[in-house]
Amino acid sequence: MPGTFGPDLERAVNEHGLTVGHFPQSFDISTVGGWVACHGAGQFSTRYGKIHDMVVGLEVVLADGSVIRTGGAPAAAHGPDVTSIFIGSEGTLGVITRVWLRAHDVAPVRRKAAYFFASFADGIAAMREAIRAHATPAVLRLYDAVEAQRSHGGDGSNSTLIVLDDGEPEIVAATLAVVDRFALAHGAVRAPDERVDHWLAHRNDTSGLQALTKKGFVIDTMEVAAPWSKLTDAYASVAAATSAVSGARSVSAHVSHSYLDGACIYFTFVGQLSSRDITDATTAEHERLYLAMWNAAQRAALSAGANLAHHHGVGLNRGRFMREAMGDAFAVLVAMKQSLDPLDIFNPGKLGLPTRRGTMPWGTGDTAAEHGLD
Ligand SMILES: Cc1cc2nc3c(=O)[nH]c(=O)nc-3n(C[C@H](O)[C@H](O)[C@H](O)COP(=O)(O)OP(=O)(O)OC[C@H]3O[C@@H](n4cnc5c(N)ncnc54)[C@H](O)[C@@H]3O)c2cc1C
Repeated sequence: MPGTFGPDLERAVNEHGLTVGHFPQSFDISTVGGWVACHGAGQFSTRYGKIHDMVVGLEVVLADGSVIRTGGAPAAAHGPDVTSIFIGSEGTLGVITRVWLRAHDVAPVRRKAAYFFASFADGIAAMREAIRAHATPAVLRLYDAVEAQRSHGGDGSNSTLIVLDDGEPEIVAATLAVVDRFALAHGAVRAPDERVDHWLAHRNDTSGLQALTKKGFVIDTMEVAAPWSKLTDAYASVAAATSAVSGARSVSAHVSHSYLDGACIYFTFVGQLSSRDITDATTAEHERLYLAMWNAAQRAALSAGANLAHHHGVGLNRGRFMREAMGDAFAVLVAMKQSLDPLDIFNPGKLGLPTRRGTMPWGTGDTAAEHGLD
């Protein structure tokens, strides 16, 4: 059921020797319905896929009260994929009341490896070649020097690649051998496996960032996808633009999910308020700094050829970028919303959709008047 939390789902399927393979960092605190509604990606996605690879079909309650079922077959060719319309719809088109997911046999073997690279760009080049050679380990994550030190220790001089794979022993051995060859070809040094163990043990722990928030720091993360050829530029552009914001203290990134044609780059940006005291002035300063860093980061990413979001979705905060990111295709989304939910009942203003139900915080992509809704 959509309200099922990650651990409960995995426990239930594990009893049958199966795994869904979807392990977002928010695994403990997020639900199947939220994964589908926000088009999520788990940390093992390079082997098991994004949530859309796992959804077989949906049951959805529409705004007029009717209940529909979508999908159900391994593949189909009867028109556009209606299941896909609801994946990533963020509750704007209907309420997902049942989800059918694919499951995999629990893998008999798990192996791991880690590498240090002199530069983030070298690591990206190695990942690109390994993926293009069809070596797709479940986890392939490259941390820049700042994040490598923050997350795994070390002296802050190297980028770190974490590799972990699950599966049949021959396939896992071959996958790790291909990654190893491309990593060494790009100047990597093999790192201790403990780096992977440390990542596994701490991968869902965000308490460090939460502690910084209490000390007057303004923190958020932004994940975008870009073709391999644009990834290094996107990294540099976002870092430069966000660092230039008055009050910004640090911008770092890791490459978290890989595909044949590109990858997701996940930024963490940190700004510092002038005082730790909570006053009207610091609250206003917090919002100004938060928005300024988001605007700088997101606009730099879009200008560098990255997209708007890879797996966190849009919500309210990113709504103002939707028109810019989607261009004329945004009109199709607006038309679907008007057709399926003409009274604007479901999550008004999310996904930057025009709404007559008041002003959304920080603005939306388009106004209701621009779409003839007034
Ligand atoms: C610390 C942290 C780490 C995260 N890591 C990841 C990650 O690794 N990968 C990832 O993909 N995401 C991640 N996220 C983002 C978030 O957890 C996911 O997007 C998740 O999929 C949202 O699920 P939820 O149950 O929390 O949804 P909610 O936050 O409750 O809802 C999110 C949106 O989906 C809509 N929605 C929820 N359920 C339904 C339903 N049944 N029908 C229709 N609409 C619905 C809600 O209306 C809302 O608009 C992270 C978030 C946090 C805070």
